[in-house]
Amino acid sequence: MRVILLGPPGAGKGTQVSKLTVAINTPSVSSGDLFRQHQKDQTDIGIQAQNYMKRGLLVPDDLTIKMVMEWIDSYTDSDGFLLDGFPRTYPQAVALDEALRQNNEGIDRVLNLKVGIDELINRLSGRIICRNCQRSYHLTYAPPISPGVCNECEGELYEREDDNRDAVQKRLEVYFDETEPLINYYSQKGLLTEISGTGSIEVVAASILDGLVNSTSK
Ligand code: AMP
Repeated sequence: MRVILLGPPGAGKGTQVSKLTVAINTPSVSSGDLFRQHQKDQTDIGIQAQNYMKRGLLVPDDLTIKMVMEWIDSYTDSDGFLLDGFPRTYPQAVALDEALRQNNEGIDRVLNLKVGIDELINRLSGRIICRNCQRSYHLTYAPPISPGVCNECEGELYEREDDNRDAVQKRLEVYFDETEPLINYYSQKGLLTEISGTGSIEVVAASILDGLVNSTSK
């Protein structure tokens, strides 16, 4: 299955994708994680992206499309993929459709995780993530067992540079301007399933699985 997880920053896409990738045994990628890895490795892509990322802006489409398509091409043996954070603009959505069409493939389902704005801001301020495995925690709502240390891999936890107040504000503005219109784009194609992103991680994960099973049995 080729599945896209849409939703604003802080909706829990990363957390849910890491559960789903295991549940349905399908590879997943987060465009944000790919960019952060490039930044860490100081590749050309990482160097070009970092100025945009730290200000909460989107990285230009050409660079983003090239990076994600390379990842998709590296999984041609797999039956599908889960995308977290891509596409985020109309040109990215069109480029993805076009690339899949050339192989007689297409997106099977788009899940839109819905969370209210106040909750998004609460979740993003206080979020800490693992430098090693990218798992995310929240200082108040979902703290790690030992402060500053990842429960899964004992990696170091840190606050993302773009989780500060100004960058969060910008990321939410960018989401409403550039990414939210994709809900309509996929809804018109009959691919959209709305999922409530509030509630425990397990409850949201169950709704996502339910959304996928029901969409494939139609
Ligand atoms: P995320 O981890 O998904 O919140 O992404 C972190 C940052 O990476 C975003 O604020 C953007 O600067 C950049 N980014 C991730 N995905 C994309 C995308 N599809 N298009 C443009 N920029 C992106």
